[in-house]
Order: sequence, then C-alpha cells, then structure tokens
Amino acid sequence: AARLCSGKAEAAGGDGAMLRHLARKLRASGPVTVAEYMREALTNPGQGYYTRRGGVGESGDFITSPEISQVFGELIGIWYISEWMAMGKPSTFQLVELGPGRGTLTEDILRVFKQLASVLSKCDVSVHLVEVSPKLSEMQAVMLTGGKVQPNPEDESAYMKGISKTGIPIFWYRDIQDVPPGYSFYLAHEFFDALPIHKFQRTEKGWREVLVDIDPEVPDQLRFVLSPSRTPATQNFIQPEETRDHVEVCPEAGVIVQRLASRIEKDGGAALVADYGHDGTKTDTFRGFRNHKLHDVLSAPGTADLTADVDFSYLRKMAQGKTATLGPIKQREFLKNMGIDLRLQVLLQNSGDTATREQLLHSYDMLMNPEKMGDCFNFFALLPHHRLVHPDKKDKPESKSPLPPVAGFNELLLK
Ligand code: SAH
Repeated sequence: AARLCSGKAEAAGGDGAMLRHLARKLRASGPVTVAEYMREALTNPGQGYYTRRGGVGESGDFITSPEISQVFGELIGIWYISEWMAMGKPSTFQLVELGPGRGTLTEDILRVFKQLASVLSKCDVSVHLVEVSPKLSEMQAVMLTGGKVQPNPEDESAYMKGISKTGIPIFWYRDIQDVPPGYSFYLAHEFFDALPIHKFQRTEKGWREVLVDIDPEVPDQLRFVLSPSRTPATQNFIQPEETRDHVEVCPEAGVIVQRLASRIEKDGGAALVADYGHDGTKTDTFRGFRNHKLHDVLSAPGTADLTADVDFSYLRKMAQGKTATLGPIKQREFLKNMGIDLRLQVLLQNSGDTATREQLLHSYDMLMNPEKMGDCFNFFALLPHHRLVHPDKKDKPESKSPLPPVAGFNELLLK
C-alpha cells in the first residue's frame, strides 16, 4: 500500500538505540519540540531513519508514485521540457531534485530527456541532487551512474559527483544552498512532508506548543505534553486570525521555499512540488509508517518514517510574491492534463503479455483513483511572474502573443 492520507496509528517495537539517546537527552534537559524530535528521528547522522533505513520502495516502509509507475516520472520530465520550451529554450539548465529517495524519479526524467535528445540537443543539462542520507545517496549513485562516482570532489561544493548512464553530470549536496546558482528546474516529490513540524494546541490560556517528553510512569516511553507557557514558536508561527484549534507549521519548508523563490526570481527556472497536503485547513496530520503500515509516531523512533501533510497555503505565503504560484491541484488532474491516458494506451498497445498489462492498469489506478493517490496528492509550482503575465501587458496587451499555458495545471500543448 502507498502511504495513506489519514488513519489510526498502531504500535510496533524497534532496536531502541534512538529511543535511549532521546530518553537521555529528555531526562537531562527536559521536553523537546515535535520538530526537534522529528529531526532527530529522521535525520540524526548516526541513528536517523533516513540515515540508516531509507525506507522508500516496495521492500521498504512506504511506496511513492515514481516507485509505482515509470509513467509518473516520464510525465514530470515532459513538464520540464514543456516549461523549458515555453521559457524560450535557454541554452543551459540544472535539474535540482530535493530528497530523491532511490533516484527513480530522476532516472525516469533522464530517460525522457534522452528520448527527446533532438529537442534538447543544444542545451547543456546537469543534475543536482540534495540528499542528507548517505545510504540513499549511495542507492541513487548506483541507480543513476551504475555506481561510478567520485566522493568529495575538490573543485566543487558537492560531496559527490558522477555521470549519468545517459551522459549527464550529476552532483550531490546536503543543502540547497550548496547548489550553484543558475537557471534551474527544481523538483520536490514527497520531500516537504519529511521536514520537521511544530505542533500547537489552542487552550483556555491561549496557544501552547506540543512537546515530546519522557513518560515518568513508564521507563523509556515517550509522551506528548503541552508547554506550560507560550514558546518562541507559538509567538512566531500562529497567525492572529487562526481559526483552527490545532495547527502544524513546518518552518524549514518555509525557508526552503523562500530560497527556491529567490533563486527562481534571480536566475530563472521553475519549481514543481508534489506531496500530500492541504491548503491551510487540516489539523493533526503527524503520522508514522513502518512496513507499509501506520505506526505510532512516538514508538521506536528512528525505525519508522515520520511525516506530516504539507500546508500549501504556508508555502504560497513563504514565496513572498517573489514568484507566481500555481496549485495545489490534485494529482489525478495534473497527470490527466499531462496526458497520462494517452501514455497508458501506448504502453498497453506495446505490451504483449497480460501480466504487464495488468501491472500497467493497476499502477494507473494507484496514481489516479481518488480513493488511492489521485486526490490526496497535490501538485504546486513556483514560476517567474513573467511566465504567467507579460511584464508590459498593461501597456500594450495586443502587441504580444499569448503566453503558452503551464502544462499540468492546464492541458499539455506540446508542439
Ligand atoms: N522523492 C522520493 C523520496 C521521498 S522520501 C520519492 O518520491 O520516492 C524523502 C527524501 O528526502 C529521502 O531521500 C530523504 O533522505 C530526503 N530528506 C529528508 N530530509 C531531508 C533534508 N532535511 N535534506 C535533504 N534531504 C532530506
């Protein structure tokens, strides 16, 4: 099963190293924010979930759209080509993926770039992967380069570099800030949902932050508590007009979107964000996954994926008007606009055996069915303002040809 969009958690055990580390810390210095807990559990350099397990894929803890069907990545590859064309075919671009998992999505995109090599022939393309997990970057290197990589290249800000099987240079970084500036197409698929969130609860005494503490009654068991008074985060992250009683905020996502928006404003390009999420309406979405099942977020930290819905209204706000934004639009609408039905027909016609055809239909259903991933996953884009409105439109509206619609958010019109 894919990661679900909501549901009840169930408990499971673990090897306990991360729990012991956290328990020591909590005993020594008191409760921590949910964000700090999540950061430790997911990306602690020694024991973090992504650092050690990596989790993505059928044999892991959760499966993602690119792992379900090659069509997903192919359509995203076409989205980038369509935007590259709409933006006047710049002579060079960087494809920058945040949190590439096993590298499958980039692999599928690069296959499309290769198939459309005649279109891209005069364009200098490079790939830049932002990945904190040594284990996953190793898997990405195997998938994309066959394992032929150079660690710690002296002349680069990257921690690793290699050449894709299709001949495109690939670089790895720990932070988006290390990626060189330049015209870039950014991609974040199921990345923002893995970033640490703060949680807040409205009480009779005002907003309080939800914290993680050790349970005094049960040894080495964690529990949620409320901060006795306001915390810096309650002051900074709750809007005065907030109407919900429980709110989750992911400041790290906000900072990254600010960086993306500044980079796109300055150097050009676009960002495509795909994730499950809401538009500032949901409350408690923090949950864990292990072996494709819901998992209690406080049990056996470091052994399960922890995740929270992305608040797209917050991302839009954090773009601060530096770029235009589009979406969120439901995954099934985006993929339909990108021509998934036609692509499915072609693949069905080309596949001789029944098993392959059944697999194609099954994966299409997983991606598109509103009850599965079709409705709860969304696409959201950051684009330069001039991509949507001519800068001098107000003065001479009829003197310019109309701008091509942005594919995915509208029907794809590739000439
Ligand atoms: N995009 C992939 C994987 C999603 S899992 C897919 O859809 O299949 C989340 C990914 O983000 C993993 O690769 C994880 O290691 C990475 N990640 C998590 N936190 C990160 C951070 N703070 N900085 C960079 N990468 C991070």
